[in-house]
Amino acid sequence: MKSTKSNKLFLKAKKFIPGGVNSPVRAFKSVGTTPRFIEHAKGAYLWDVDGNKYIDYIGSWGPMILGHSHPSILKAINKKAKHGTSFGAPTELEVKIAELITKMVPSIEMLRMVNSGTEATMSAIRLARAYTGKDKIIKFDGCYHGHADSFLIKAGSGAATFGTPDSPGVTKSTAADTLNATFNNIDSVNKIINDHKFEIAAIIVEPVVGNMGCIPPKPGFLEALRAICTKQKIILIFDEVMTGFRVSAEGAQELYGIKPDLTTLGKIIGGGLPVGAYGGRREIMKLVAPNGPMYQAGTLSGNPLAMAAGFEMLSILNKNKSIYKHLEQSSKQIEEGFKDNFKKLNLNFVINRVGSMFTLFFTNNEVTDADSARMSDTNLFGIYFRAMLENGIYLPPSQYEAAFVSTEHTEILIDKTIRANFKSLKAVLHATK
Ligand SMILES: *Cc1c(COP(=O)(O)O)cnc(C)c1O
Repeated sequence: MKSTKSNKLFLKAKKFIPGGVNSPVRAFKSVGTTPRFIEHAKGAYLWDVDGNKYIDYIGSWGPMILGHSHPSILKAINKKAKHGTSFGAPTELEVKIAELITKMVPSIEMLRMVNSGTEATMSAIRLARAYTGKDKIIKFDGCYHGHADSFLIKAGSGAATFGTPDSPGVTKSTAADTLNATFNNIDSVNKIINDHKFEIAAIIVEPVVGNMGCIPPKPGFLEALRAICTKQKIILIFDEVMTGFRVSAEGAQELYGIKPDLTTLGKIIGGGLPVGAYGGRREIMKLVAPNGPMYQAGTLSGNPLAMAAGFEMLSILNKNKSIYKHLEQSSKQIEEGFKDNFKKLNLNFVINRVGSMFTLFFTNNEVTDADSARMSDTNLFGIYFRAMLENGIYLPPSQYEAAFVSTEHTEILIDKTIRANFKSLKAVLHATK
C-alpha cells in the first residue's frame, strides 16, 4: 500500500502544526507508523490522498453512526449555508433541536449548546459546583472528559486520594479538586466520599467507558453511583459525549435505566460538525446565565450549519429506532467473527463490546477498569493495527480507544473485516515467535 503523498504531507505538516496534527491521537504515534491524510469519505469508506480505500471503524471518533457523507445530512447543511453561516443571534432551529433532545433523552429537561465535548463537560462541572456550593469532583481513572484542566488529572500515588496534574500547565491547585476513583469499584468511591465529607460537588463518569477502550459498567455499578449521589446530594453527571445516541437513541442512561442529574453530549449530536451540549434537571439548568448566575457563553454556539447537521442526524435516529437493533446485529457479527478467529488460532485475547462500540484488548485478563486495560500489550496492538491497515481496515490507532460500527457496515464489509482480522492476528502470532 503506497503512502507517498501522506508521508510528504506529514513531513510538511510537522513544520507548521505541533506533531503535524490538530489532535494528538491522529498522529499514529503509539502504533509505530505515520498517519494517512484523508481525501474524502462515503458510507463506511475512507479514501486517502494516495488513493487507498479503507473500511473505517473510527467514524470521526463516533459521530458517523449513519456513515460518511450521509445524503440528507449533506443536503441539510447545504440548504442552510445558502442563508448565511452565523448570526450570533437566536434561530428557530436551536429551539427545534433543544426540543427534540429533551424528547429523546427524558432526564434532560433543559440544555445549552456549546461547540465541543470539552466545553460541555467543563461547563457541567462549573454548574454542579455553582449548584452545590462545593468545589471537589470525583472522576474515574482512565475516563476521558475532554482536555479541560480539571480532567487532566491522574490518580495520586499511595494513600493520597487527590490527583496530580497529568499534563504540564495544569496547576496543583486544580489537581487538588479532582479526586480519582476506580471504574466498576464502588468501594473506591465510598472511600473518597468518606475522606472528603461534604466537599464533593459532582461525580462525572462515562457510563460505558470508551476512552480506555470499551469497558461496560458491571451490573449494579451505575445504580450504586446514583444511590450515593442522591444520598449525599452530589450531582451525578453522565458524560455521554460518546455514548449519547450511540448505544441507544436515549444513550447509556436508557440502556441501564439510570437517570443522571446532568448529561453531557457531543460527537453524534453535531452530525459531523463541531457541537457539544450539556443539560439535565430544570432546577439545576436554571442557574445558567442569563437565567441565573453561572456564566457560560459561546460566539458560535448553536451555529446554524452545525444545528442543521445535528437536527437532521437526530431526526433520523429518532424516527428509525430499528437502527439500533441493526447496529447490535452487525456489531455482534464482528464480535463473534473475531472470537471464532481467536479459537482457530488458539488465542485468548479479550473483546469488550456494548452495542456498536467495541475494543479488542491484547491481554488474556478480563478488562473492567484502567488497571486491567493497562495490562494490554500495546506492542502487539501496534503490529495488529498496522496489519489491519495494510488489509484496508482503518481502526482507531490506539489500544485505548473504542472502534465504532455504522449503519453502512454491511454484512459483506464485516466479513471482509473478519478475514482481515484473521490475517492480522496471524501477523501478531508470527511476530511473537
Ligand atoms: C470525545 C469525548 C469528549 C471530548 O469531546 P471533544 O469534542 O473532543 O472536546 C468528552 N467526553 C467523552 C466521553 C468523549 O468521548
